[in-house]
Parts: sequence; structure tokens; C-alpha cells
Amino acid sequence: MSDKATSGKGKQQRLVWTLQMVKDRCVEEGDCWLWQLGLSSGGYPQARIDGRARIVRKWVYDVLLNKRRPVDSVVRCSCENKLCLSPAHLVHGTQADAVRDSYTSGARCPVEMTAKRRANIVKQGLTKLDMAKAQEIRSKASTQSKTQLAQDYGVSLSTVKSVVSGRYWGSPLAKSAFEWRG
Ligand SMILES: [Zn+2]
Repeated sequence: MSDKATSGKGKQQRLVWTLQMVKDRCVEEGDCWLWQLGLSSGGYPQARIDGRARIVRKWVYDVLLNKRRPVDSVVRCSCENKLCLSPAHLVHGTQADAVRDSYTSGARCPVEMTAKRRANIVKQGLTKLDMAKAQEIRSKASTQSKTQLAQDYGVSLSTVKSVVSGRYWGSPLAKSAFEWRG
């Protein structure tokens, strides 16, 4: 970091101005500051700051608020709004915390996400099955052998077993967020 504003006063002014600068680019909603400008590919506020594209929330936390956090942690927003940059809401946590919270808060809807991912693998031709076929297999499994079903649907025996057990093409709500499979 090369910074010409090294005097205490200069630094203080820069800090105040810059937090204000962030706020000026947000709309206040309740306690949240919701960013109105560019976003990263992941949907987080992104801006060119000091000549570099930065994730704004991380920059606000690390630089403006000058808070320390473990190297492997991520900056999160306690309100779980991706657009929020409110200094009062920025906290640090592990990547796993962030993922878990996004599920429990509903920011990631298990049903929606699973449906999307499944539509994707069908579209890309990565699977011979779809939900309708999986349900057929499950209903036929009570009367037909799994080996026969594997032949009929052109998939492996282990795939048939996983479909029947609900591990593949089962309900996204039946399992924990971390165990889903296409
Ligand atoms: Zn917030």
C-alpha cells in the first residue's frame, strides 16, 4: 500500500470521505446500504478502487474499517443481502459459514438451485435421465430388477441404485444442503 495521505488527520479525512463515498453509491433500506453500481460475476458489489477491481464489501471491511480477520475467512453481511455494504452488517466468517448461512437464510433456495442444476446437466447432455425417468425407475423398481432397469435406461447399475434410494434425482429437501447430487 503506497499512500500519500500519511498524516493522522489526512488519513482520518480520507476514511470519512471514502465511507461516505460508498454510502453515496448505495440506497438505504432499513439498516442496509444497498449498492447501486457494478457487480462481480458472483453478484457482489464491485468497483474500481485505486485502479483495481475490488469486491467492495471486502475492501470496506479490510481497509476502511481496518478490521483484522484470519486470512482464510471471507467478509459476509449479517443481513445476508449480497448488495449490502453497511459497516454495521459486515462480519467475517469462514467460507463454510457463508455457504451454510446462505442456505438457512433462504438466499439459496434448495429446490430452486437443484432444479436449475438439473436443468443444466440435462441441457448439456451430461445425464441420460431426467426427473420423469427417475420417477419411472423408482416405480418400476418394485417389480423389475435393477439390472434390467439399468439396461432399459442405458445407465449403470449403481446409478439405478442411487435413483431408487433417492440419492440421485431425489427431493432436494430430503437431504442436507451438502449432500446433494444431480
Ligand atoms: Zn445489511
